[in-house]
Amino acid sequence: LKENNARSVWHPMAHPADSRANPPTIVTEASGVTITDVDGHTVVDGVGGLWNVNLGFSCQLIKEAISAQLNQLPYYSIFRGTTNDCVIELAEELRVFFAPDGLTRAFYTSGGSDSVETALRLARQYHKVRGEPARTKYLSLKKGYHGTHFGGASVNGNANFRTAYEPLLPGCFHIPAPYTYRNPFGESDPEKLAQLCLSALEDEIAFQGSGTIAAFIMEPVLGAGGVIPPHSSFMPGVREICSRHGILLIADEVITAFGRTGSWTGSRLWGVQPDMMSTAKAITNGYFPFGAVMIAEHVAEVFESDETGKAAIGHGYTYSGHPVGAAAALACLAETRRLNLPENAAARGAELFAGLQTLQTKYEIIGDVRGGHGLMCALELVSDRATKTPIDKATIGAVQEGAYRSGAMVRVSGPNIILSPPLVLTADDVQTILSALEAGFASL
Ligand code: PMP
Repeated sequence: LKENNARSVWHPMAHPADSRANPPTIVTEASGVTITDVDGHTVVDGVGGLWNVNLGFSCQLIKEAISAQLNQLPYYSIFRGTTNDCVIELAEELRVFFAPDGLTRAFYTSGGSDSVETALRLARQYHKVRGEPARTKYLSLKKGYHGTHFGGASVNGNANFRTAYEPLLPGCFHIPAPYTYRNPFGESDPEKLAQLCLSALEDEIAFQGSGTIAAFIMEPVLGAGGVIPPHSSFMPGVREICSRHGILLIADEVITAFGRTGSWTGSRLWGVQPDMMSTAKAITNGYFPFGAVMIAEHVAEVFESDETGKAAIGHGYTYSGHPVGAAAALACLAETRRLNLPENAAARGAELFAGLQTLQTKYEIIGDVRGGHGLMCALELVSDRATKTPIDKATIGAVQEGAYRSGAMVRVSGPNIILSPPLVLTADDVQTILSALEAGFASL
């Protein structure tokens, strides 16, 4: 299998030759919060699929919902002229779920990159409908990750995800992230750093001209960039600045919606109502590719009251509103609510974060520990704490390998070890992840 994989499969976010040098683990089964590989080795999944398997791998309700929907209506498009009961019911549920975020309409997509693309497009269109066609630019954060499509890639903060594909969308500008461990201001106080980043945002808006900017897109807690929670003043500050300049605020909650941060949404964690929110991932617990852009009532009104025809939406996906995905999402929402997942995410997340901080006192290689908001944490590894020199690939790979051999799958992203386990994790599972990681560090 490994040989065939190396010959035939190109993996996302990897060098095409990597599969030969470092054959990936072949996962054959998953159940509860564990995965099992082809050699029969079972470990706790500290990655939660890819930040998405919040309910674990054995959620019977979702499996039954998918199976029932496959038998009733396996597929039909919701392009103009047809709809189905499942997407209507789901939109009504989402309207209730996202009411505290001020979001009332759902535009269905088939994943996170699609959701970002849709939100970026709708932002430009919103301004055109309102008679401000010059608003075409986008602002975002330097450590942000917004998917793979040309729009998302253009607002991505990490140049590694952009340069190979340039030229990208013109008019995209990146603001320093509120990342205390490394930032251009040399500021380690979270609150002061948040203010400096907000000033940088104001400066960029002044430089570009506020009437040229369509939207600011941000993750409420930066995820793939290395789990970077901002100070509590940051997102409210962004909201205020965007409102003052007529710029739409898009919350990219592909990771953070549906409980991961210990709050039902990341925006709610900071008391902010965005104008649009991109969601995907945990909306179906990873059981079906699906997503939705949630749209604020006041934005929806602009589109719906348009009499010029400019608000006709000129894009969509074959799998927008896939009935099987919608059925999976309905079951997923019901289970997430029934189990009150954010509460467990907060409790287990606090244990995990505390355990990681203890590990940092024992291992010099751990330069920074980030988390404190539900079940998303990261360790940033360095070869020298004083100079903060990023760790080399071989050493961080050895930690990952050691942790895997000792009972937990963890994710490596650059110099970071990222943890985003299922939200149904128990206190014992948290300890399993921590002791596996410790074994990984001890094995160096
Ligand atoms: N936005 C964010 C914040 C993400 O984390 C991701 C995926 N990790 C995406 C967008 C893209 O989602 P997808 O991989 O489902 O296209």
